[in-house]
Amino acid sequence: MELLIKKHVRFMERHIGLLPSSQEKNDANRLAIVYYSLVGICCLDAEALTAHREGASASVIQLYRQSELSDGTVVGGFLGSRTMEVSGRPTMSSANTLFATLSLLCLEAHEFLQCKENSAAICEFVSRCQLPDGSFVSMLDIGGGGCPSPTDSHDLRFCYIAVALLYLHGCRTPAEYARYVDVEQLVDYVLTQRCIGGAFGAFGEAHAGYTSCALSLLSILGKLDSLDEEFRARTVSWLVHRQVSAIGAVPLQDDNEQFYAEDHGGFQGRENKAADTCYAFWCMNSLEILEASSLVDNGPMESYLLQQTQNSLVGGFAKTDEDDPDIYHTFLGIAALGLIAGTFDGALCVPKNVSAQWVRSTTH
Ligand SMILES: [Zn+2]
Repeated sequence: MELLIKKHVRFMERHIGLLPSSQEKNDANRLAIVYYSLVGICCLDAEALTAHREGASASVIQLYRQSELSDGTVVGGFLGSRTMEVSGRPTMSSANTLFATLSLLCLEAHEFLQCKENSAAICEFVSRCQLPDGSFVSMLDIGGGGCPSPTDSHDLRFCYIAVALLYLHGCRTPAEYARYVDVEQLVDYVLTQRCIGGAFGAFGEAHAGYTSCALSLLSILGKLDSLDEEFRARTVSWLVHRQVSAIGAVPLQDDNEQFYAEDHGGFQGRENKAADTCYAFWCMNSLEILEASSLVDNGPMESYLLQQTQNSLVGGFAKTDEDDPDIYHTFLGIAALGLIAGTFDGALCVPKNVSAQWVRSTTH
């Protein structure tokens, strides 16, 4: 089966406007859903975005908030949705701010993005999210004077988001980053998340998603050389071995719940797990950053995505061949195929032509 572009575009368009009532529980994540839809459409058919440009830009921008902290610093960021509005307590988060920034890039809403005041406020917000150990949380305790939220988790995802935001909002040189964050401390934190067998993860368990976050942020910062050759080789080996193969596999006498022959070609996110559409992206992006993606057999990966998890009836991709399609796996399935085709910028998570145009227009 080929990539069903028209069906996927329609599937994603259905997620831009009002959410169906069955998805009400996801309203706090509206901006994430809008981002997955817009960027997914932008990958497949940029022309189809034209009809949404004005309406979608306005509905994203209306979620932007600025707040003045007690020391006079103005911080800015995006709410996940209007339901997250709490009077006097801006609940902007760095994750939603990245989703908004990337959505606006695809929508070519350059007026908002090129406003120096907005970018400075967003960079100040990111700056405030850094913890003393170098890692980042995603929210501030605005009532508590704008300190990092004491209840928010801090891990490689939020470190990646922080770096991507600083980069997209104008930081390029070490001095520009240093205005807002302690890069050395951040890199030290990232190195503490290395796992013995290669790759990155929390609590010593390697995870493809965290690995992609760590490698993407080091690549954006130009700090990949902080990883020694031996660790890089172990990481490449770990990543390549996440591709599930059914060839030559001997079925166990007792059922093995974590092994399905249909997973052949797909990627798992951790050892001994089933294949899942999104890990094709997290693993392939990591391998591409380490310049080792040619070690992967793309054919079985493509056929896993197109034959097993692509939904030919309503469009979209599912997590596995047994699930209904959802917008997150749809976006990451399309992004993984875009990586293979060489058209997707995995470190910044937008099509290459979008990021290249933005970098050109903001590099001084
Ligand atoms: Zn997944």
